[in-house]
Amino acid sequence: MLNVEPVMAHLPMARPSRPKLLVVDDQAINIQVLYQAFAADCQVFMATTGMQALQVCRDKLPDLVLLDVVMPGMDGFEVCRQLKADEALRHIPVIFVTSHDDPEQETKGLDLGAVDFIAKPVNPKVVQARVKTQLTLKFQADLLRQLVFLDGLTGVYNRRFFDPQLALEWARSVRTGTPLSMILLDVDFFKRYNDHYGHQAGDDCLKQVAATLRSNLRRPADVVARYGGEEFACILPETAFDDATELATQLERHVRALDIAHAHSDAAPVVTISLGVAAREGATGGSASELLGLADAQLYRAKSSGRARSCGDRLV
Ligand code: GH3
Ligand code: MG
Ligand code: MG
Repeated sequence: MLNVEPVMAHLPMARPSRPKLLVVDDQAINIQVLYQAFAADCQVFMATTGMQALQVCRDKLPDLVLLDVVMPGMDGFEVCRQLKADEALRHIPVIFVTSHDDPEQETKGLDLGAVDFIAKPVNPKVVQARVKTQLTLKFQADLLRQLVFLDGLTGVYNRRFFDPQLALEWARSVRTGTPLSMILLDVDFFKRYNDHYGHQAGDDCLKQVAATLRSNLRRPADVVARYGGEEFACILPETAFDDATELATQLERHVRALDIAHAHSDAAPVVTISLGVAAREGATGGSASELLGLADAQLYRAKSSGRARSCGDRLV
């Protein structure tokens, strides 16, 4: 069973203070009514065409869309269909707002993936209540999606997230020709740490190591994951070998600087980590799993040459 509490503590706010709402209607007066109903509680974006609506969704990632059905050009049904077909946008709930009181239209909208249907002219109180309900559901769903990909103990990503993410970044690196680095790291003599200080202290130590890794990987695209028991992995997109090596050196220093006493380590009197760096640079062949294999081999080299250090290599 996933221990949710520490995970929650690390999450970005599950419920943003001001939800983002997109109102789509070709009639300015309709937009105005809905704007007034929500301006106090939400950040409201507006669009008057289907094309514009899709663009705002891509740019702003709203939490909910209030969507007019009948519009010249692309109608609301088509907007909804395109939203639901887009992996990045399909989680945005859509509520249709329409003057047609027609069960067939309503069925069509719901079949397309809309969560609700509201009749025009809208009653502000009714639309507020329905939007509130759908926003609550949306934030709960967002939270669940995040929890599935987080490690219960440390709050960093888990393997379920890491594996496809590495494949994705590998493909991006191949496509764009930008470098891709990764670091695999492992706590030194951690079995002895557990044996001496107890499992609870071991857990606390892993939490501190994870937090240190996370606070030192600052680019938005960087990923830290718990790879196994006391092993972590970092994906560093658009990072060349030399920069990844420098980062590995810093991570080693920062973990050492936590100054967690480890009386039975042969590497140092405090908890240390060993790191393996692997980089894809230029037009190499290989695969994501070969990059991982190289990082693992380099980690092994760091372990066998004394621990508390990093070793690295470029994939050829
Ligand atoms: P090395 O320096 O070669 O890495 O030696 P090590 O002792 O760290 O490696 P080994 O693989 O022998 O032991 C890893 C230990 O990590 C054993 C296991 O009990 C502990 N461990 C794994 N996951 C957890 C965890 O979630 N919590 C705690 N407290 N300990 C864990
Ligand atoms: Mg209209
Ligand atoms: Mg270890």
